[in-house]
Amino acid sequence: MKIGFIGLGIMGTPMAKNLLGAGHELVVYDRSAEKMEELVQAGAKGAASSKEAAEECRLVITMVPNSPHVKAAVMGKDGVLEGAKEGDILVDMSSIAPLASQEVYKACKEKGVRMIDAPVSGGEPKAIDGSLSIMVGGDRETFDEVYDILMVMGGSAVYCGDSGAGNMTKLANQIIVAVNIAAVSEAFMLASKAGVDPKKVFDAIKGGLAGSTVMNAKVPKILGRDFAPGFRIDLHIKDLNNAVETGHSVGAPLFLTTQVQEMLERLHFDGCGSDDHSAIAKYYEKISGSEIK
Ligand code: NAD
Repeated sequence: MKIGFIGLGIMGTPMAKNLLGAGHELVVYDRSAEKMEELVQAGAKGAASSKEAAEECRLVITMVPNSPHVKAAVMGKDGVLEGAKEGDILVDMSSIAPLASQEVYKACKEKGVRMIDAPVSGGEPKAIDGSLSIMVGGDRETFDEVYDILMVMGGSAVYCGDSGAGNMTKLANQIIVAVNIAAVSEAFMLASKAGVDPKKVFDAIKGGLAGSTVMNAKVPKILGRDFAPGFRIDLHIKDLNNAVETGHSVGAPLFLTTQVQEMLERLHFDGCGSDDHSAIAKYYEKISGSEIK
């Protein structure tokens, strides 16, 4: 199938490559021209705008940072909706505010374009090996129609409900990941300060109840002082801001989330916004005056 792919960053590039590898024809666009090079080298056609990618394809995928970027790429000048035809499908795989997803869904519907929100979890490694967890909101029939294409990029694709439900699920995911990294940082700082080797703590507890995918992925980065992203602090601030805003609008209490949101904000103002979110450990290191080691 000929697929338009918009947004070729840390996640979009390997996801698009997997679609190419599965034999799909790709028309790619990124607002930063050099981001398109790698895909064009790999056999994709470069487009001059999101509109042009949509004109050429019946299915367009977007993978950009946040709600304003999705709105610009879809509803803005030279956006997808200027090029899309009735019956076309838009799959937005970015993590954005559920209310923004619903807004884009409505704008698409007015033009006869079918849209689902399909954010992902798993980060760059799972984007590379095509085993992302994909959570989907929108019309069930649209989900069924694109399921096989989603499964080229994912290890699972679960239909969660109406428009916005995919991004609502993603916010839940992001709360659990952020609070888990903070808990791990707090606990490992305690052990380290008390003179117990954090590596031994990790080996001893990772197979027990406290063990988690987050712990397995992030503790080696913290202990190896490797804070290259991965998932940037600034993107996680975006997700927790969306979570808190949504929590306020539906009346859900988010006490733990707001604590970690503040830690991330401190890190941003300390110049760590482009670090991996495992750098939440640095927040504890700063206020404790020692490293986790
Ligand atoms: P990124 O910043 O690396 O890439 C985003 C790309 O979108 C950039 O290349 C940028 O130039 C492009 N872009 C922005 N606005 C655009 C527009 N209007 N038109 C065309 N291109 C545009 O971000 P990423 O890490 O790839 O994340 C993308 C999305 O996936 C985010 O919503 C993020 O929260 C989510 N996500 C990221 C990870 C991760 O580990 N990095 C994991 C799961 C989900």
